[in-house]
Amino acid sequence: MYERYRVKPEQEIDLNEWDPADAGAFEGDKKAGKEATKKLNKRLEALQELLYAEGKHKVLIVLQAMDSGGKDGTIRHVFDGVNPQGVKVASFKRPTPEELAHDYLWRVHKVTPGSGEIVIFNRSHYEDVLVVRVHNLVPEKVWSRRYEQINAFEKQLAEEGTTILKFYLHIDKDEQKERLQARLDEPDKNWKFAKGDLAERALWPEYQNAYEAVLSRTSTDHAPWYIIPANRKWYRNLVISQILVETLEGLKMEYPQAEEGLEGIVID
Ligand code: AMP
Ligand code: MG
Repeated sequence: MYERYRVKPEQEIDLNEWDPADAGAFEGDKKAGKEATKKLNKRLEALQELLYAEGKHKVLIVLQAMDSGGKDGTIRHVFDGVNPQGVKVASFKRPTPEELAHDYLWRVHKVTPGSGEIVIFNRSHYEDVLVVRVHNLVPEKVWSRRYEQINAFEKQLAEEGTTILKFYLHIDKDEQKERLQARLDEPDKNWKFAKGDLAERALWPEYQNAYEAVLSRTSTDHAPWYIIPANRKWYRNLVISQILVETLEGLKMEYPQAEEGLEGIVID
């Protein structure tokens, strides 16, 4: 299911051809969509418990989006109810001086998942070919090499046992207008608004180009990108939950063998 949102390796992506308001088979039926998501969340909870208990696989989820694209909301809704012991979120902000003194993957590699863990990247190493490219924070000669470096890095993680899923939350500029305005209008949301967001919004076409390059050049069999229609939050949550559940089910996990001789033990 939802294979159609997966970017094939080397597929040329024009984001104008991808509908951010798509609701697939659930068009006009938000209620059914939300119910389906609820069921998927229950399955996800059980699968995460199993992943943690088995302690074998590592799972990395990368979330990227324009400002207000829904990264925080996705984390809140999709992982609602999972055991916080086995799930971590790593958020990537503007690099600190120490981080800048190292190569751009240094801060990333050290927070990748260990065995039995799910780690969600809220932004990621892709910022190093997105914001960095759009603002010329390093010369083109430097950022243009990074697509191949990122592919090699992710290949290495995958070969060492990490399952990688990458989600680009696709909204359009009108949707962003509404969401940013809501951050200004609702006092409880003011903290999410930075004046700098306006300057980034003005660079919308440059960012879309940078995203198209990312999606076209770094979707691989071992670390695929999915372009998630994200104007409608409930559909976004549904699609991501479904992809996660199917991926975890594909790992064929099992609870560890119990110790021998447990039968008949009674605790007094
Ligand atoms: P937020 O996600 O709203 O907390 O914002 C985090 C900010 O950090 C965004 O404006 C990102 O573009 C910025 N950021 C993240 N990674 C990098 C990076 N490698 N270089 C420069 N800016 C970055
Ligand atoms: Mg922000």
